[in-house]
Amino acid sequence: MSVMRCTMKHVSQAKPCMFCFIERGAEIKRSAEHFLSRPVAKAFSIDREGGEVYRFNVGDTDPNVVRLNGLKRKAVCTDCNNGWMNQLEQAMPEVADWFLAGDRPLGNQLSLTLRKWLLTRHLLLTEIDGNAAEFGDTDKLDEDYVVPPSSLARAIYEDNLEAILEAPVALSRSTANLEFAWAFGHPRVLPEDRPHLGRYAATSVLTLREFQAWVTTPMIYDFEVFAPAELRLCAPDLRSADLGRHPGIPTSNDITVSFHGVDEAAAAFERLANMSEAEIRALAEGDANESPKGPASD
Ligand SMILES: [Zn+2]
Repeated sequence: MSVMRCTMKHVSQAKPCMFCFIERGAEIKRSAEHFLSRPVAKAFSIDREGGEVYRFNVGDTDPNVVRLNGLKRKAVCTDCNNGWMNQLEQAMPEVADWFLAGDRPLGNQLSLTLRKWLLTRHLLLTEIDGNAAEFGDTDKLDEDYVVPPSSLARAIYEDNLEAILEAPVALSRSTANLEFAWAFGHPRVLPEDRPHLGRYAATSVLTLREFQAWVTTPMIYDFEVFAPAELRLCAPDLRSADLGRHPGIPTSNDITVSFHGVDEAAAAFERLANMSEAEIRALAEGDANESPKGPASD
């Protein structure tokens, strides 16, 4: 059984919409975004009204159980929720049709729709699991907190195709016989002696019956992602018949994120931190003029 943990929360009324950043303060209508909308639940034959969801965090042997219909978060503004986000929900049954058909390529439009929908679920999870006390069923908040990828959220709102298409989003076919489940947390991280870097790579796995989707959003450093062999990148030429079978319960650390240049960046910060005010000023002026005034620093 899990211990309920009460955390002091100071929820600012002026916290902005996580996508468009418009303040959803007291005077602005806030909106609760359901994690699993009615059209999506119906398309994947999930019982949203009576269902329970199983949530697995890294290291859990037993799942946390949450009521599916109560799974929502006031993280978005009404305009976003009723506008572009609702359009994504309405398009998701087409993704379910594609998945059931098997031998049909996903196509450009649907690939983009699916990526955007999955990224919005992933970003909502950074809110839901980052504020998990409201669901009263986690005692692993410290371990699993992540830095939310806010610039990606804004990029999705702005329909920035480059950001949406280069995000690591992959699919597989679940054989675990789960109705609806998600895993959220840190991936396995390389270099191995920097596990805390996992907080810069929020990772989620969403399972809707046999449909399974994996998202990781590493930031700050250059990175490579290593995934189980059965996963396929979400791309226009993908057919669901080509998806590999993923057995068992997925967890976020089935994904490995290898960060590059971590030591170099740490050394650069260290040098900056140890500079005198005059040195920093000289550096800043050099950047502004593109011709350093002081002695060459090489
Ligand atoms: Zn908004």
